[in-house]
Amino acid sequence: MGKILEDIYFTHAKVILLDQILDDGAVITKNGVISWIGPSDNLPEFDGKELDLGGFYLSPGLIDLQVHGAAGVEVSYTDRSGLDRIVTFHEKFGTTSMCLTVLPSPLPHMKKSLHNIALFAKEVRNGARILGSNLEGPFINPHWVDISQGRWLLEADLNELKELNYASGGWLRIMTFAPELEGIDSLIKWFSKEMGLVASIGHTRATSEQSAKAIDDGARMATHLFNEMRPFHHREPNAVGAILASKDVVAQIVMDGKRVHPIAAKIAYSCLGPERFCLVTDATSVTGTTDGLGKHSGRKISLVDGVAKFSDNQVAGSALTMIDAVRNTIDMLGLDYPTAIRCASHTPAKVLGMDDRIGSIRVGNHADLLVLDKSDLRVLFSYVGGKRIFRSSI
Ligand SMILES: [Zn+2]
Repeated sequence: MGKILEDIYFTHAKVILLDQILDDGAVITKNGVISWIGPSDNLPEFDGKELDLGGFYLSPGLIDLQVHGAAGVEVSYTDRSGLDRIVTFHEKFGTTSMCLTVLPSPLPHMKKSLHNIALFAKEVRNGARILGSNLEGPFINPHWVDISQGRWLLEADLNELKELNYASGGWLRIMTFAPELEGIDSLIKWFSKEMGLVASIGHTRATSEQSAKAIDDGARMATHLFNEMRPFHHREPNAVGAILASKDVVAQIVMDGKRVHPIAAKIAYSCLGPERFCLVTDATSVTGTTDGLGKHSGRKISLVDGVAKFSDNQVAGSALTMIDAVRNTIDMLGLDYPTAIRCASHTPAKVLGMDDRIGSIRVGNHADLLVLDKSDLRVLFSYVGGKRIFRSSI
């Protein structure tokens, strides 16, 4: 059921650019690529279909670097059809590209999960782009994971890291490391400097000195800043302090209003700015379920006051979608629309080195676009490479 690729001219839109809105703007897509941006009253001659947006927003598609699941399915424990269900759910909420995120489990199981994602990512499925996999462990601190994952954490071992990377078929993009682990520096250096991949600091009890060393060794990201790391203290700033003080680290933030207090998020934004404040969902399998029930790392979780939790009340993750993360950022931090969208599109694209193709409305970029309602930012249409992948039914 291939969808037809049409050349489109979107007209009379509020076009969300990197740092401004082009009012009554127009965007032309040709062969799936953005070929022209300008005012609606100055359109060049063009052979294609016009879509008059009547003042609705035209936004870049959103990019989620940290997705564990949705619709009752978890990435780490499913097959191809389950991965498809997860991605299809997130497509409805503005995500046009994502990294599917794998949890610690027995080494052969992690390899299989990474292999499944590689096969899925290679498919041409007329939907959101699968940018690759994100592995949250296994070289992390057992203090910050639930009991089921804790069993499968490993001591820093470069050969095992290479095995995992090999199993990913070249699709592994991001991996979380705890800087305090004995011998972790050689893994972080290999992953980031030799392989050019994104080493992320997280699930850690590292001091600020240990974290600064990891950043020197090449770590360029922080996994859900504030969560599962020791808090900032003015005499021991810990990983949070090292990340906020660094100029090189992009921090993932879960903006569901629960996992991070809005004031803490404001402080983080003040330190990081839009280029390093990166919205992610960290969405678990309960996202989009009617009963709020699901599994995480194979254990039952449920949605309690907007947060996905295990039965012992330990936090498993979120039930967030990307468009909600954008809305919350606008509401709670007071950011303007272009800036909030940028933190959910250009910033994640840039950390993966893909901002020359995706993540903004720019001539030459893929036409990964959203049409958003002007009153509540509801996703009305979603396009990937100029093909419509979602249309709201209401
Ligand atoms: Zn986590």
